[in-house]
Amino acid sequence: MPRNQQILLDSRPQGEASAGNFKLVEADTPPLADGQVLVRHHYLSLDPYMRGRMNAGKSYAKPQPLGEVMQGGTAGEVVESRHPRFAAGDPVVGFGGWQQYSVVDADQPGALRKVDTAQVPLSYYLGAVGMPGVTAWYGLVKIIAPKAGDTLTVSAASGAVGSAFGALARARGCRVVGIAGGPDKCAYVRDALGFDDCIDYRRHPDLASLSAALQAACPDGIDGHFENVGGLVLDAVLQRANPYARVALCGMIAGYDGAPLPLANPALILVNRMKVEGFIVTEHPEVWPEALAELGSLVAGGRLRPRESIAQGLAAAPEAFLGLLKGRNFGKQLVRLI
Ligand code: NDP
Repeated sequence: MPRNQQILLDSRPQGEASAGNFKLVEADTPPLADGQVLVRHHYLSLDPYMRGRMNAGKSYAKPQPLGEVMQGGTAGEVVESRHPRFAAGDPVVGFGGWQQYSVVDADQPGALRKVDTAQVPLSYYLGAVGMPGVTAWYGLVKIIAPKAGDTLTVSAASGAVGSAFGALARARGCRVVGIAGGPDKCAYVRDALGFDDCIDYRRHPDLASLSAALQAACPDGIDGHFENVGGLVLDAVLQRANPYARVALCGMIAGYDGAPLPLANPALILVNRMKVEGFIVTEHPEVWPEALAELGSLVAGGRLRPRESIAQGLAAAPEAFLGLLKGRNFGKQLVRLI
């Protein structure tokens, strides 16, 4: 059995997370028992939710235990199998964690899924046709529930969730306006992802300016908003929201290192008779098949080809993860392990 490089959570962050919170180790891979599969990971997914799990405090997900392999989604191939449904060479996605190999009990529900890489690249199963894509689908379809012609906005528009949201919204005949950090990301959101417009929030560092930019980009107001960031962006959207606007509260990454994110004027939720609903995608397994089918067909049809930020080698994972929390990624953040 192969030697296996792993990254453990070594300590909990005090404030901002740092590379010192992680530890790279090497371990033996245990031999397979009946029903188990050895998977070699080609890609590791880095996701903002991992920051919350590094803390010990109360959250919607259990904290990541100290001294254990960092948890996370992986895509790879079966190397050896003692399970009748898997064979060496099968492309698979699972939750193998920050390590080169994992031994998986393949009968555990949701532990390992064979995927078809004929029309969808393997890495996309961790992004557009994976958890981030389904997240966009759930917030759009189940919370915002748009009509054709609605104006929708989304923050962190160039990222894994935001890029999928744009394609799904456009497929429903909506006008979709992104909010992203910097001219390069905004040009990509407009030109490559096909959004109707994109606002660079860094050019609008105060509420009056960001609100005016939203008004210019959304002259008919905002009917639905998908929030990934929190803070100033949400304040500005509330100012421009139409009556009965819906907000899918997906993430508040601006506060993941502990910064408070007060709302400037929550009375606007009442004034506009708005719906603001938070959600966790893993609590809605019933929508995954339908969502993945639509996302897969958007990718296969060339209507969703989002970019990826790929770090090379397991040792690069901590820095890539810290960069994701600062917006240094440009598209879905992955680590290539082969
Ligand atoms: P992204 O690929 O969008 O990467 C994160 C992006 O967030 C960065 O590129 C950056 O984009 C933006 N960002 C980071 N820090 C800040 C900050 N301090 N202020 C403003 N923007 C910042 O990540 P994902 O697509 O994977 O995730 C997007 C959001 O969705 C996250 O909030 C995540 O927690 C949430 N999520 C929620 C799920 C749920 O079930 N509720 C499931 C999956 C994801 P820019 O440079 O444009 O600012």
